[in-house]
Amino acid sequence: MAAEIRLEKVRKTFGKVVAVKDMDLLVEPTEFLVLLGPSGCGKTTTLRCIAGLERVDQGRVYIGGHDVTDLPPAKRGIAMVFQSYAVFPHMTVAQNIGFGLRMHRTPKEEIRKAVKEVAELLQIDELLDRYPSQLSGGQRQRVAVARALVMRPEVLLMDEPLSNLDALLRLQMRAELKKLHREVGTTTVYVTHDQIEALSLGDRIAVMREGEIVQLDTPNEVYDKPATVFVAGFIGTPPMNFLRAEVKEGEGKVHLAVGDFVVEVHEEWRGRLKEMLGQTLILGIRAENIEVRPSPEEGTLPAQVVVSEPLGSQQLLTVQVGNDVLKVATSPDLPIRPGQTIGLVFTKEKIRLFDEASGKALKFG
Ligand code: ATP
Repeated sequence: MAAEIRLEKVRKTFGKVVAVKDMDLLVEPTEFLVLLGPSGCGKTTTLRCIAGLERVDQGRVYIGGHDVTDLPPAKRGIAMVFQSYAVFPHMTVAQNIGFGLRMHRTPKEEIRKAVKEVAELLQIDELLDRYPSQLSGGQRQRVAVARALVMRPEVLLMDEPLSNLDALLRLQMRAELKKLHREVGTTTVYVTHDQIEALSLGDRIAVMREGEIVQLDTPNEVYDKPATVFVAGFIGTPPMNFLRAEVKEGEGKVHLAVGDFVVEVHEEWRGRLKEMLGQTLILGIRAENIEVRPSPEEGTLPAQVVVSEPLGSQQLLTVQVGNDVLKVATSPDLPIRPGQTIGLVFTKEKIRLFDEASGKALKFG
């Protein structure tokens, strides 16, 4: 049932705009792949190329091993769910869900059974006789998902399906979509610009920028090991902190210097860094990987607290280090006042280093 999707050098332009730039992509059968990136990076266009709603300028699209590049959407074995859950207002929920099957002239009894089954799966079986105007936004979106799934597509394509819902409902539907995917196992490509949604739902995330995939990895890898400064700055709330650091040597040991402050580095990194003495790198560190000492003791990086935000499970500090502003996550119980000078310690294993010119992460080992 679940098919592999393969894009081979797919290119799509609109006039001078290159929306998708020679993209190669393999989505495994049953995989939930998220296309994530800022507005205008080409996520929707990529999805529409897979669906056949856009003709590609160059390259090929394969679904389940078949070249579908020249096939219309209806012949590709796909189903789509959009942001605007386009349900038909004059049809009941049951008629909405069964619409596609009716178009395929499926026998009535078979339609009734299939509609009931998928409605149960989405927990809308109580609502089958209602009209869309009698449903909440979340219920309407469930109808749209049911209508897609009832066709038993080999591939499910979703474009920001939750973005019209309020925050709480969104959270709830996110978990439901995840559970649903586990149950039906349809290969899914899901477009969002919401990184939390991407981290939560994706087996893998393709982070896009200007028509290209800049990193394709599991959520944990994308979060912990961003391939570029762009990915590191896009993923995470707050995004990763960046500081300029010079590669130096003191007492026979290679270290990184942030101003006068010595940042100890991983032993395994020292060999490679030794070849880079004198170079400036970008040091990346996440807010939760910085320890806070109430005063700037020896061996800590002095920082002045600008703002402290109590966020329930954590306290988020905005601190100033020289000309740089960093975000630091600490315990809500730690008494911190704005204006106070504290000491910071970076968790050595969690430091990421990037090349200053290209923004690419340095690889060690
Ligand atoms: P968003 O999150 O805002 O929907 P996106 O990442 O999905 O953005 P696309 O909608 O794929 O981005 O658009 C990629 C680029 O192609 C943008 O520069 C956009 O303006 C352009 N584009 C998309 N569709 C068309 C079109 N039909 N005609 C002209 N330009 C288009």
